[in-house]
Amino acid sequence: MDRILLLLEHPTNRRLLEECLAQHYQVATETGQAPESSFDLVILDGPALERLSQDVVGWKRVAEPVFLPLLLLMPRQHTSMVTRHLLHTVDELLLTPVDRAELRARVETLLRTRRQSLALKSRNDELEAFIEARRAFERMKDEFIAMASHELRAPLTSITLYANMLVDGEAGKLSEEQQRFVRIVSSNADRLNRLVNDLLDVSRLASGRLQLTMRTVDLKATVKQVCTELEAAGDSKRIKTVATLPPQPICVCVKADQDRLVQILANLLSNAYKYSPEESTVTVQVHTHEEWAQVDVIDQGMGIAALDQSQLFTKFFRTEEAKRQGIGGTGLGLYITRALVEMQDGQIWVTSRQGEGSTFSFTLPLAL
Ligand code: ADP
Repeated sequence: MDRILLLLEHPTNRRLLEECLAQHYQVATETGQAPESSFDLVILDGPALERLSQDVVGWKRVAEPVFLPLLLLMPRQHTSMVTRHLLHTVDELLLTPVDRAELRARVETLLRTRRQSLALKSRNDELEAFIEARRAFERMKDEFIAMASHELRAPLTSITLYANMLVDGEAGKLSEEQQRFVRIVSSNADRLNRLVNDLLDVSRLASGRLQLTMRTVDLKATVKQVCTELEAAGDSKRIKTVATLPPQPICVCVKADQDRLVQILANLLSNAYKYSPEESTVTVQVHTHEEWAQVDVIDQGMGIAALDQSQLFTKFFRTEEAKRQGIGGTGLGLYITRALVEMQDGQIWVTSRQGEGSTFSFTLPLAL
């Protein structure tokens, strides 16, 4: 039942309102507990407002964001005394002598608004609790990723080391079959290493622990180096790699973290190979405009639907097409790549049409 507090100094009005309202509401004439939490509506007259105006303003403030309505009773002949300030303090004015039907209507309107604001507050509280639970879950997930990737690193390093020693014949000559098996172990350990490194980067990004060492980097040389190192990845599909760079003696030097720049290029290039058909061409081009260098990695692959493009750089996102074609991946590469580009003051974007290939472009500031 709604609770109404009557603060009326005029005894006849007090008795009248008490009588009229008590049939439908719980009515009190003393403040008792803190009114902002105990009452849904406060009705008062001029003398009570004068005496309690500071308190009344305080109650309303404490109740916020929930609406605590104030209804002021005022003799008809005093309406000329209604000031702007007064209208800011109270929410409704009712002239005396009071008409019972009008009183009920005004009271109901104010109580309805109060109920709506209570409902809104409770929805808001629920939403905040949900957001907080979600944040706690995200924190837990980040902590788990950090812990798991950290713990996986040491055994993986040892597997890679011993597999490579076996491949190199350091434990004696292996039969052809043994060599084949060890190479499989070694290449899968490499894959796991890449995954663990990605997970470590994701957890560093989440906690703000990813640090860059910025210096002047020769972009053309870095692009050439990455293309040479990765070219072999396209060999099984006979993919041709073309690097289109500004001619000598033009030097394109950027402000970047060398290792992270290599990581960005390697990720875009290996995606281009991964999502391209056999015997296609992957082109990496470098050009400059104003104080920016731009790199475009262009493929003739499956392309990306317009709807997917906006989500491409978010954590764990993979296109339906990539999944449908059974191409493995985690959806972490582009998320990390974007973060790395942006941390180096650059921008990254994609232009693509499904079935017609993609161009991934990023910029970095030129070193002046
Ligand atoms: P992964 O390749 O491990 O799935 P990425 O974050 O590198 O993760 O890429 C996210 C998704 O974006 C991929 O799963 C794929 O659906 C799509 N994608 C990325 N690069 C290309 C590309 N060059 N052509 C077509 N789709 C791509």
